[in-house]
Amino acid sequence: MQVAEPPGASSTTTETVNHMIGGDEVPSKSGRTFGSLNPATGREIARVAFGEAEDVDAAVRAAREAYERRVWAGMAPGGRARIMRRIGDLIRERADVIGAVESADTGKPLGQATAEVTLAADFFTYFATHAELPDGRTHPADAGYFVYSKREPYGVVGAISPWNYPFLLACWKTAPALAVGNSVVLKMAEQSPLSTAHLGRLVLEAGMPAGVFNVVHGDGPTTGAALVAHPDVPKLTFTGSTAVGKEILRVSSQWIKSVHLELGGKTPNIIFDDADREQAIAGSLFTAFYNTGQICTSGTRLLVQRDAKDSIVEQFVERARKIRVGDPTAPGTQLGPLISREQLERVTGYIEEGRRGGATLATGGGLVGSGAGGYFIEPTVFTDVTPDMRIAKEEIFGPVLSVMTFSSEEEAVRIANDVMYGLAATLWTTDLGRAFRMADRLEAGIIWTNCPHYLPVNVPYEGHKLSGLGEDLGVEAQNTFTHLKTHAINFGGGKLEWA
Ligand code: ADP
Repeated sequence: MQVAEPPGASSTTTETVNHMIGGDEVPSKSGRTFGSLNPATGREIARVAFGEAEDVDAAVRAAREAYERRVWAGMAPGGRARIMRRIGDLIRERADVIGAVESADTGKPLGQATAEVTLAADFFTYFATHAELPDGRTHPADAGYFVYSKREPYGVVGAISPWNYPFLLACWKTAPALAVGNSVVLKMAEQSPLSTAHLGRLVLEAGMPAGVFNVVHGDGPTTGAALVAHPDVPKLTFTGSTAVGKEILRVSSQWIKSVHLELGGKTPNIIFDDADREQAIAGSLFTAFYNTGQICTSGTRLLVQRDAKDSIVEQFVERARKIRVGDPTAPGTQLGPLISREQLERVTGYIEEGRRGGATLATGGGLVGSGAGGYFIEPTVFTDVTPDMRIAKEEIFGPVLSVMTFSSEEEAVRIANDVMYGLAATLWTTDLGRAFRMADRLEAGIIWTNCPHYLPVNVPYEGHKLSGLGEDLGVEAQNTFTHLKTHAINFGGGKLEWA
């Protein structure tokens, strides 16, 4: 393990970030704020307005009012598309500045954070086309009748976002909703709210009318819960834990809200003995550890075909030890810290659980540079894991990999499917017949053969089992953020002769 020192005391409190409500940056009505920390130092880098129910209500009213005035939904489709593209352009122009904020707020290596901001721009550019896509159909009907159905925006969409890809997911969740004419109230994760302040300003600069895009900061139980329970928010889109997703569904049932959920995962990463070894090892390191393992599709269960296990695991562990963990601002850094002290405690708890449960710690398990105050942890690999162990079943959300073996496709499918999640699965094989057979039987919304995390914005997917509800990305997102309206017209058909 090469360890660079975490950054020093350069970050100080310089900024107060407010909500964006109705086109204005406003503090909470109560005046309450909370601190946002740099996970690489544990120090506060900004104060942030803490939204209570009354602030959420103000944001929803602003969004609703903008929707009812039709300033956005009633704009010519080409005009809406142009503004969406302009937002994408502005994000690209400011990627360095936003990326630096994102890196300080999340601990992501600087280059990675900046690349993610650039990628986020594509969500506005791509979904701009949804403003102009056909959105309805006509239906065969009786003579003298004309029947059509079309998609309409919900009105106000509540978007609740996690901390692992703050800026990227803010765009991911809001761009498709905005493109089809909705207004949005976005609630960012309390661990990483800073980059979204830039998005709120830039959206106005691009020409989106005030009140269409609103941001409220705060925690889950107060701010998020107020948004979920608001009766004027008929559509919710949430990315986060399965536990919170269930709670959102429960609360939403009172109003029969439409709920889109992207939840946890325990992605199997399956290496067959016919795989290209070099690619399989490089790709498995990437999917297990990238973003410090804080991705819902991280390949955290490595299933290796029994005969290939020893040589693959030996090389994998050797290369895992060389991953550079440390200062996110240093050019060679590959992994930054975990997001928070709570997350560090959760991950080290699972490592302890793995040890106690009888798995073999092949590498890692320790903290890195803990004296400097950051939440750094070593890439960790457990071998001799059995499918019933907690580290093999539960989402850890850290750089902790469980290695298991199988001998046949049948056994690989059985182990892979033996969890409550069904988000993604990765296969490493040169046998395409095997890839198709496996993909048919794996319980997951997206399968990657020889290409983990391949998810361009035009490719749709949907979490299965306890990993999600509703289609995401691609043209499918048009349906996710609209509901159906049907109109039947009798313009010369028979007269009604009832009673
Ligand atoms: P994690 O466990 O990774 O922090 P969470 O699912 O707890 O993920 O959080 C994801 C997002 O959901 C955050 O923005 C958080 O504030 C919000 N959240 C947490 N609890 C609730 C809740 N009860 N209602 C609405 N939003 C919530």
